[in-house]
Amino acid sequence: MRYEGNVFRPPSEAYSLIVQATIGCAHNECTFCSMYKDKQFRVRKLEEVLEDFDIARRQYRYIEKVFLADGDALVLSNKDLMTILDKIHTTLPECQRIGIYAAPHDILRKKPAELKELRENGIGIAYMGVESGSAKILKNIKKGVTPDELVEACQKLNEAGIKSSVTLISGLGGKPMWEEHAVESGKLISRMEPSYVGLLTLMVEPMAPLYKDIRNGSFQMLSAYEVLEETAEMIKNINLTKTCVFRSNHASNYVSLRGNLPEDKEKLLAAIAGALKTGRIKDERFRLL
Ligand code: SF4
Repeated sequence: MRYEGNVFRPPSEAYSLIVQATIGCAHNECTFCSMYKDKQFRVRKLEEVLEDFDIARRQYRYIEKVFLADGDALVLSNKDLMTILDKIHTTLPECQRIGIYAAPHDILRKKPAELKELRENGIGIAYMGVESGSAKILKNIKKGVTPDELVEACQKLNEAGIKSSVTLISGLGGKPMWEEHAVESGKLISRMEPSYVGLLTLMVEPMAPLYKDIRNGSFQMLSAYEVLEETAEMIKNINLTKTCVFRSNHASNYVSLRGNLPEDKEKLLAAIAGALKTGRIKDERFRLL
């Protein structure tokens, strides 16, 4: 397969065929993120994207899932996305699900009928970075969206029948704002009612703008224990009416958690309390992005 630069995908797309529909991220300003800082955003030529599926067909006999990258492939027009989806169905007829990274503004720009069209033609899941439920933190990290816009984007996906998978980041408020981050994130998740919530833990690489704030002391990272206390507070503030899969089992997390909310709320809180009591927490050296 042909890839330009580093390619990222959600953990649940580990066995998917990844095809870059765009290169980089159109926003590319989030202060904690270094994923696409080395790439100038552009939409890839459609012919090249389509060719990738022919290449994949020659290389692989069975492809169950496809994931469209880079950072916000949903930025493409529905006309182009439909051409890509048609190509997937004709070239890889066994493909059962297509996933995509979706920036909140791209979802908001799409009409409900356009999202429905994508759903009916195979887009089964969209991954959206939410990061925090706090308006102040979203502003500090230059996410470029408000909590209300995040709720609206997620509800649009839900109404179109596209599964919504949202990611938040523990520790993103630093020490002074840990409680606001926890409480507001819990409340935001409750309003969004996503299908999946993934909770990562903040790790900052030198390419990310936040790195220099950490070095000069203007941003203070949470300790592992503080992260776990924050996660417990966040979970306490999640109140959902329909089942959502909650995962905090990424390589960056200090403790691996997985359960369904609201059913497993007490179980998840007990697992955190157990880790805090026993000190069974991942060593810093083994954390990865
Ligand atoms: S977090 Fe997402 S939206 Fe923000 S710069 Fe990184 S890839 Fe782009």
